[in-house]
Amino acid sequence: MEPSRQQRRTLARERARAAERLFREGLYPAPDPPAAVILVHHLIGILGRRNDARRASKAATAVHRVFEAHIRAQRDLPALDCRMGCAHCCSLIVTAAIPEILLLAAAIRQGSQTERLELAARIAESRAASSHLGIGEAVRKPVPCGLLTDSLCARYAARPLGCRGHVSRSLAACLANAADPTELIPGSRAHGTTALDCKLALFAALKAARLPHRSYELNAALERALETEDAERRWLAGEDIFEGIPVDPTRTQQIEGLLDRMIADATV
Ligand code: SF4
Repeated sequence: MEPSRQQRRTLARERARAAERLFREGLYPAPDPPAAVILVHHLIGILGRRNDARRASKAATAVHRVFEAHIRAQRDLPALDCRMGCAHCCSLIVTAAIPEILLLAAAIRQGSQTERLELAARIAESRAASSHLGIGEAVRKPVPCGLLTDSLCARYAARPLGCRGHVSRSLAACLANAADPTELIPGSRAHGTTALDCKLALFAALKAARLPHRSYELNAALERALETEDAERRWLAGEDIFEGIPVDPTRTQQIEGLLDRMIADATV
C-alpha cells in the first residue's frame, strides 16, 4: 500500500534527522535503514537540486564530512605512522569519483593565479609521466601527485576518499613499498572500509541521478577539469568532458547490483 502524505512527511523528517546524525557520528550502527542508505538518500537529495550548479562537488563534500565524522567517532583505531610532511603515499596511483575531482578543481581555482598555474603545470607533469601506467598496478608514479607541494597536499581539505582511506601503521613498510611496490602496507580497516562505504554511497547516488558513477585516475581527470571551462555545469548537463581519461576497470555486475539495491532502499 502506498504511504499516505502524512506518513511520507514523517519519513522525510526522520530521514533529515538521521542525515544530521551522519555528520556528527558518521556511518553509525543503524539496522533499519542502515546509515549507508540514509547517506545515499541524502546525496540523491543534493544531486537532485537541479538549480545548483555546484551540486556534484557539494555531494563530494558531504561524503568527505561523513567519512571524517565516522573516523572521529571510532574508539579503537590502530596507531598510525602517518605524519604531516610524510608523503610516500602520494606517489601511488589514486582514483576518484568525478564529484571529488570537481571539488578539487574548484578548490584549486580559489587559489592565487600564480599558485593555480603552478599546480596545473605539476598536475599535467604527473599525468604525462604516468600515462603508461595502468590503474590498480602495484607501481609508483615517477612523478608524484601534482598537488604535492613541499611534501604537503596543497588541497588537503578537499582530498578524495582514495587518499583519506589510505593510511599506514608502519613507516618502515611505506619505505619498503617505495623501494618495491609489491611490499604490502598495513593500513587501518576502519579507514579502508569507511572510504569504500562512502564511495559506494556516492556511486549509488550518482547512478540514481543518471550520472557517470566510476572512478577516474586523479591527475588526468583533474587536468581535464582544470582546462575545461565551466566543467561542473557541463558534466552535470550530461557532456562527457572526461572522455578518454583512464577509468578504474574493477567494476562488476555484483557491484552494480549492490548500487541498485542501495538506490531501491534509499528511495522507498
Ligand atoms: S590529492 Fe593530496 S593527499 Fe592525495 S595523492 Fe595528491 S597530494 Fe597526496
